[in-house]
Amino acid sequence: MTTVYEGSLWSIQSFVSGFQNNAYLLTCRRTGSSVVIDTPDQPAELIRAAARTSVQGVLITHNHLDHLQGFNDVMSNAQAPVGIGAADASAISGKLHGTLDVSHGNLLSFGDITLRCIATPGHTPGSTCFMLPSEQPGATPHVFTGDTLFPGGPGKSGSPQAFRQLVASIETDLLTLPEITVVLPGHGTSTTVKESRAEFDLFSRSQRRDDLYGDVTWTGDNR
Ligand SMILES: [Zn+2]
Repeated sequence: MTTVYEGSLWSIQSFVSGFQNNAYLLTCRRTGSSVVIDTPDQPAELIRAAARTSVQGVLITHNHLDHLQGFNDVMSNAQAPVGIGAADASAISGKLHGTLDVSHGNLLSFGDITLRCIATPGHTPGSTCFMLPSEQPGATPHVFTGDTLFPGGPGKSGSPQAFRQLVASIETDLLTLPEITVVLPGHGTSTTVKESRAEFDLFSRSQRRDDLYGDVTWTGDNR
């Protein structure tokens, strides 16, 4: 199943495989340059679509296995450099065709596409989101959030400290994006910054345990 989001300068295709993972292929219309975001298991459809483009980079939102099980397959078909947050990078092994700097604030260009890297530690220490700003006034920006932000809540956290870090990342660096920004997560359906802000407002006004972590939803009973 492929969903296509169309901008004037680019298209985004999404592919569901593996553990109901979303992989994305972002392609520049003018040059055919593209970037792959995440490499789940059974990536055949992603690889076929990517082969019709010129893959300039493979970006990994974080080091969990379900986002990487198709990594070697994708890499044997795309001679492209890899970007993954430094704190998650040890998960990537084997022969690489170079690396991309995805540290916070760094800009990556592929043809007419520019992505801004956003470090969002919490779900994993090196979790990174990729912001695709609107290419012209009034166009819709998109952000690829991996397992950091989903419709209805944050990704899973492994400790109360990680949960607090995850919420701080989301509040500081994702909910401050333009509210029309479409949020494209690593699993499931999309949402928007506007919707996420409204849900988060309910969460921040509600009572919750100090030691909250795990599978938290913004609007669940977190007491
Ligand atoms: Zn994950």
